[in-house]
Amino acid sequence: MHLRFAPYTLELKHAFGIAASTRTSTPAMLVEVDRDGVVGHGEAAMPPYLDESQATATAFFARARPLLAACVDPFQLEEILPAIDALAPGNTAAKAALDIALHDWIGKKFGAPWHRIWGLDPQKAPVTSFTIGIDTPEIVREKIREAAIYKIIKVKLGRSPESDREMIDTIREVTATPITVDANQGWKNRDDALRMIEWLAPRGVVFIEQPMPKEQLGDTAWLRDKSPLPLIADESCQRLADVVRCAEAFHGINIKLMKCTGLREAHKMILLARALGLKIMLGCMTETSCAISAAAQLSPLVDWADLDGAVLIKNDCFDGATIVDGKIKLPDRPGIGVFKK
Ligand code: MG
Repeated sequence: MHLRFAPYTLELKHAFGIAASTRTSTPAMLVEVDRDGVVGHGEAAMPPYLDESQATATAFFARARPLLAACVDPFQLEEILPAIDALAPGNTAAKAALDIALHDWIGKKFGAPWHRIWGLDPQKAPVTSFTIGIDTPEIVREKIREAAIYKIIKVKLGRSPESDREMIDTIREVTATPITVDANQGWKNRDDALRMIEWLAPRGVVFIEQPMPKEQLGDTAWLRDKSPLPLIADESCQRLADVVRCAEAFHGINIKLMKCTGLREAHKMILLARALGLKIMLGCMTETSCAISAAAQLSPLVDWADLDGAVLIKNDCFDGATIVDGKIKLPDRPGIGVFKK
């Protein structure tokens, strides 16, 4: 199995503000695995706050290259992916890129899309939310107009109570579309967080993602028992091993390929979360249609999707899953269903 990789910078259509930062681009890596004339595509998207970079991913791929070159049977993902995971701690986006490329390669060899291999009904792919970062009222109104086809809007909050209320009031002046809120750990005090959630509940909000810092799991559990809205773990839930702990403080989890090392682990997290009675959201970073289409293969299994990463960028270099009338449409192509434009 030959491995190729190259850096790629995702250019955002709008500057993207969350509780702790604002940015205009996202560093990424595009990878290809190649054997028997079949090429599998993968991608690592690495927002700066997640401690990975094009340099760390390049170093990681250089370590993974001999392992893939020596791989006798690329279908044995339960052998290959744990070996890749064990090469170094962290590097979850780089690991996800390899996981996605290997899945794409296997699907193409089978001649089947992964949602079919997993036995899923593509008609059950959910609607996806469209994310609006923290911004001025003028820009927020402009983004809402762009988001007209979406059935759910995801709003980033968590900078201050005044700014949070202004964001929601601005959106409610122009649309009644249901909102999901992502506080990105921005609410540090549980009483204040509860007051904010009680203010949000009658304003058409569906759930709250990561209200409090990931270290404050006890406060989050307190909040969950009083909250009129479901609480969904994001920063608190990175990998499979986190799911059980999150069941003690949240109503559900947000799974992202770039956090959890890819499709294999994401699928296991979904099965475990269901067994624990948790709600499941499938999220993304800003990504091309490569990683988005990979995640979309799992989307018929989840309650909510937030897979708008590719529509937030100007330079999507893949064709794959699309969004039609706000709903995810899975292409009937093998593997993760993408081709390079
Ligand atoms: Mg989030």
